[in-house]
Amino acid sequence: MDLGPFPDTAGHDRATTLDAADPLAGERDAFVVTDPELVYLDGNSLGRLPTDAPGLVDDVVQRQWGERLIRSWNEGWWELPARLGDLLAPVVGARSGEVLLSESTSTNLFKLAGAALLARPGRSRVLTDDLNFPTDVHVLDGLCRLLGGDRRVEVVASPDGVRGPVEELEAALAEGDVALLSLSHVVYRSGYAYDVARLTEAAHAAGALVLWDCSHSVGSVPVGLAEAGVDLAVGCSYKHLNGGPGAPAWLYVREELQDELSNPITGWFGHAEPFGFDLGFEPARGIRRFAVGTTPVLSMAAAEAGIAQVARVGIDAVRAKSVALSSYLVELADEVLVPLGFELASPREPARRGGQVALRHDDAWPITRALVQDAKVLPDFRAPDVLRLGLAALTTSFLDVHTAVHRIAAVVRDGRHEAYRGTTATVT
Ligand SMILES: *Cc1c(COP(=O)(O)O)cnc(C)c1O
Repeated sequence: MDLGPFPDTAGHDRATTLDAADPLAGERDAFVVTDPELVYLDGNSLGRLPTDAPGLVDDVVQRQWGERLIRSWNEGWWELPARLGDLLAPVVGARSGEVLLSESTSTNLFKLAGAALLARPGRSRVLTDDLNFPTDVHVLDGLCRLLGGDRRVEVVASPDGVRGPVEELEAALAEGDVALLSLSHVVYRSGYAYDVARLTEAAHAAGALVLWDCSHSVGSVPVGLAEAGVDLAVGCSYKHLNGGPGAPAWLYVREELQDELSNPITGWFGHAEPFGFDLGFEPARGIRRFAVGTTPVLSMAAAEAGIAQVARVGIDAVRAKSVALSSYLVELADEVLVPLGFELASPREPARRGGQVALRHDDAWPITRALVQDAKVLPDFRAPDVLRLGLAALTTSFLDVHTAVHRIAAVVRDGRHEAYRGTTATVT
């Protein structure tokens, strides 16, 4: 299809004016962009490649591994998970020594939720909601089965599939016997953003621990972990942190709880003296007890560039741009896409919305395929009917948003999606 400028000149000028006034516009130059015509709206699933990442990886491969060999463990590798954790800490409002990079989000969730359940042995209820990412519910369910007793996960339903069931969760907490409340801060599908402080307080009032999955908020929305008194948190590094495919995830444990909680995966990297080679397990003090095994040094190196950039720019500046982008998209969608059968499936008020906008349409799947195949727009699709537009603030321009809305409209108006009905793909 024709990807040239759209006849909407006034709208196009407004987008370029917004870009000219954007203090973060230059941050885009810190990323590899191989196709300037492509509008990438999936930075919330896999962030773009920072230009600094290949050099960092190359140094690890050629010099640290190739030349320095095993000496590199004493020349920086050992400290990597905690050093990158400290670099990330201000981005999520944590204090130094409270964040560690390790494993995947799913594994970190297992470790921290497991630690929480072991710390509340007399309580049987684990609360979450039906907007949570499936892996989170699978891990919580699996832990309840493993630990046995009366432990069970209760999945509280959202009133509309968009908003978190805040009052219902508060009521469920007040009924008592809750060991752990575990939610996604920003919900992957609708982009709804929970009030972390409010639910953390409600959990604590009920004597429960709280674990926030910040996979969709880290690097996009401030979390304020320490200020809200959050106990535990986990999150991805390959979404808004641009850490690369399979980047090591992170975990946070409030300092006051670290020596009180036990990591249920007792591996040698969490031992007080890993090189004492003692067969008895003695947990390390501090955040390092939540480590398990050998650090994936190559992928940590790749992740450093993206984390350093968000830390340098500052999460408040990132959030301001993100709110401006998503508000602009909602406005254009109301004007151009709603008349074509789309419906907003994200919160309208910016305070309750993360860095993505979901649009419902009966033909969301074939429209997504047509956008990817014919229109150089990469969004993603969430079954059964959501077109999800991720607006990674460091890599998305206002002109990208304008262009995407008009390409989506052109696809639907010209019926280009009809050819993609009934097609399938493994990763959506
Ligand atoms: C992306 C995401 C994950 C991914 O978990 P992995 O173990 O890295 O595959 C988990 N939880 C949430 C809420 C996510 O958004």
